[in-house]
Amino acid sequence: MGSTERIRNVAKRVAKWARAGHQMVVVPSAMSGETNRLLGLAKELAPSKTSAAYNRELDMLAATGEQASSALLAIALQAEGMESVSYAGWQVPIRTNSAYTKARIESIEDERVRADLKAGKVVIVTGFQGVDEDDNITTLGRGGSDTSAVAVAAALKASECLIYTDVDGVYTTDPRVVPEARRLQTVSFEEMLEMASMGSKVLQIRSVEFAGKYKVPLRVLSSFTPWDIDLDEEAKSGTLITFEEDEQMEQAIVSGIAFNRDEAKISILGVPDKPGIAYQILGAVADANIEVDVIIQNVSKDGRTDFSFTVHRNDYAKTIDLLKEKVLPGLGAQEVVGDAKICKVSIVGIGMRSHVGVASKMFRCLSEEGINIQMISTSEIKTSVVLDEKYMELAVRALHRVFDLDQPAAA
Ligand code: ASP
Ligand code: MG
Repeated sequence: MGSTERIRNVAKRVAKWARAGHQMVVVPSAMSGETNRLLGLAKELAPSKTSAAYNRELDMLAATGEQASSALLAIALQAEGMESVSYAGWQVPIRTNSAYTKARIESIEDERVRADLKAGKVVIVTGFQGVDEDDNITTLGRGGSDTSAVAVAAALKASECLIYTDVDGVYTTDPRVVPEARRLQTVSFEEMLEMASMGSKVLQIRSVEFAGKYKVPLRVLSSFTPWDIDLDEEAKSGTLITFEEDEQMEQAIVSGIAFNRDEAKISILGVPDKPGIAYQILGAVADANIEVDVIIQNVSKDGRTDFSFTVHRNDYAKTIDLLKEKVLPGLGAQEVVGDAKICKVSIVGIGMRSHVGVASKMFRCLSEEGINIQMISTSEIKTSVVLDEKYMELAVRALHRVFDLDQPAAA
């Protein structure tokens, strides 16, 4: 939705679907750059306010971006000869809680939209926004129109929710790191969630959670294909996010390699090994609203142990300070050390549930590349390792190769 020209293309694409007999509800995002522009204006006036009163106005402001693009799309559809009507979140209404700038959808009333669909109209519903119980306008967090679209699809029990975006699907890994990365035709919700570090660049992760919870079939596809490509071809393009139990095909054991550099490692050395230490350390961290990811406690020696965990890199300094000031004195530990130059690399695949030896294949691969593993964590469908950041690309490439992701999957 970058320009009126692009909006006209969207209208033509939607009209193509509608004329083929589909009832269509479209959930537009703002025109590109618009949300940043609006929030930038607010920052110019009040750089670092974080009061609820200020956040309320941010939502009031940012929501206008979607209101404009929605009206423009309805106008473009009318110009294509379609009947079309647009609604702001509060008009539907899409009810949310009152957490300004990161509100959560609580309910959607679908009567108005259904009546319009029945009357043959294409309905446009603004993405990203809703209204709380006191009729304040709220927004759902950056990238929130994905979640709006899934929520509207869930409320209407749509047969599929198509998310048109600037990539043409979900890849085995980031093609900027591995040029051989391939687009996946299908990926399960569970895998998509585990690949959050890659997936979130494609979809707001909350939209995937929502789709999983309400069983909304979700397809990610490119908004850059010509609007007049064959509809059947378009309907099969991109990546379909599936429910595992629907899976017919033989799954690859590993579907993708995820990675991120957003974490930092913190270790507390010489912790007296006794009941309650994990709680003493991590309870304090949680109370400060800091999220912890990978956790390791070493075997103790002479009654003392080392305790390590990772946090988001933005929370690194804050966590170290907190530990030094509030936790270390009561703990009797010797010191806190940290490393912000780490990365996390994960192999993800639902096939790992039923295959043994997948993790050891990963470890062998890394050892053959001479890469030292600092931490390991596993779930049913994912194995993650924490490495020195300088090895990230090497590790991702090697794993992509070892798990045969460079090759197209056998049909
Ligand atoms: N316009 C909002 C944003 O830029 C919502 C979205 O694009 O999904 O974050
Ligand atoms: Mg988006």
